[in-house]
Amino acid sequence: MANGSAGQNGVTQVPSHSDGIPAALPAKTSAQKNVVKYLPSEYYQSFLSLVAKERKPSPIRSLFPLEATPGLISLLAGKPNATTFPLTSLQFTARSPTDPSQDISIKVTDEQLAEALQYGATSGNPSLVNWVYGLQEFSHGRKKGEGWRISIGSGSQDLIYKAVNAMVNPGDSVLVESPVYAGVIPMFQTLHCDQIEVATDSNGISSASLREILESWPSSKPKPKVLYTVPYGCNPTGMTATLERRKEVLALSREHDFIILEDDPYYYLYYGDAARPPSYFALELEEPEAGRVLRFDSLSKILSAGIRIGFVSGPDVLVQAMDSHTATANLQVSGLTQILTSSLLNQWGYEAFKIHTESVSSFYRKKRDVFEGALKRHLDGLAEWSTPEAGMFVWFKLLLSSNASSSDEGDSEAIIKTKAFEKGVLALPGTVFLPNGRKTAYVRASFSLLEEGDVDEAVRRLREAILEARSE
Ligand code: PMP
Repeated sequence: MANGSAGQNGVTQVPSHSDGIPAALPAKTSAQKNVVKYLPSEYYQSFLSLVAKERKPSPIRSLFPLEATPGLISLLAGKPNATTFPLTSLQFTARSPTDPSQDISIKVTDEQLAEALQYGATSGNPSLVNWVYGLQEFSHGRKKGEGWRISIGSGSQDLIYKAVNAMVNPGDSVLVESPVYAGVIPMFQTLHCDQIEVATDSNGISSASLREILESWPSSKPKPKVLYTVPYGCNPTGMTATLERRKEVLALSREHDFIILEDDPYYYLYYGDAARPPSYFALELEEPEAGRVLRFDSLSKILSAGIRIGFVSGPDVLVQAMDSHTATANLQVSGLTQILTSSLLNQWGYEAFKIHTESVSSFYRKKRDVFEGALKRHLDGLAEWSTPEAGMFVWFKLLLSSNASSSDEGDSEAIIKTKAFEKGVLALPGTVFLPNGRKTAYVRASFSLLEEGDVDEAVRRLREAILEARSE
């Protein structure tokens, strides 16, 4: 059977090689092969928040596994009797990645449906979890085993929130790349965290800025426990961190003892010309000890955003703490979306998944080209940007003064919300991505949805707004 293909019962076999691993992943020496040292579980105690330490395992859910004991009669769980549920079968169609003109029919077996309709494991449906283990080996060279594990979430947002809750105490200092995904700012703000902004540029997060922050850290103040970063096609900057930067950030996490929250929903939307740099999750295999990366994946941009499936991969203790949160907050992710996802992915297998994600990323590459073409046509001399190599965003600076040496960069919010809106175009003012909300001349534009004609017209309208602002 081909590696990563669907096996008997539609369950995908875990690939025995790692086709999906980026070309830039440093080759291991034979002595290193399969010998990954992990940080011991005691290491993580100081990383757990007070809330996480207070949480006790769910008395019911922790006994669930015992129900599988042969011969046992269980009076344990308050599970509804499934014979009363009206849903009797689930069958759907999906596009074939190898032949997009064809739909393939996918049938969820009665057994799988019954499992999906009942309460299930906190960390996720076993068939989906198993598929994700295989994917992490296929894409990042991480073998299932000691030291790390997986949990499924309702999108990666759910899991990031739970990770922050499991690790960060009110008032803590946290490291965030800046500008940063606006969806995490409130997580830290509501905990009254001191958000320490690490600079970014066209090579992604600046390891020099990170080093400077950490090396001048006052000895009287506890050092940050986490660094939040989006390494590919960052939201909002569109930038992808280079291999060199990644290695330096990993080395700093070792020197200064912090966990990297690798939020990576755009990993499979990489369309750069050069080989894709490895993820932090893959790169840390080259570290003396692995276990400083908590990785968040999302299926939102490659399967469906509404299906709400994301997964976290990382140190046992931390993922366990997040599961304890789930056991208190929402018990589990919807069984139906999990079985839908797992049936589709198991039927596809890893090679077909790869083909699908490659077609999604080349779709966005074309969108990027169209958008950049319009920027060049209409905003030459009126805006500055770096070309994104992944994702769906362009981050550009409005040149609001014709005087290039002017120190006043301006405020994109004032232009976007008034002049641009009046001319019939909307984008996101950069200020929403700055933890301290300061004014900025930057704007984020999303190019995922528009057709060529609308892109051209939108950017032309922006040009008019900038010209009007300049003339005042
Ligand atoms: N992180 C980043 C950087 C994002 O851009 C998004 C989606 N906008 C998310 C997390 C949340 O994604 P999900 O749909 O998986 O919850």
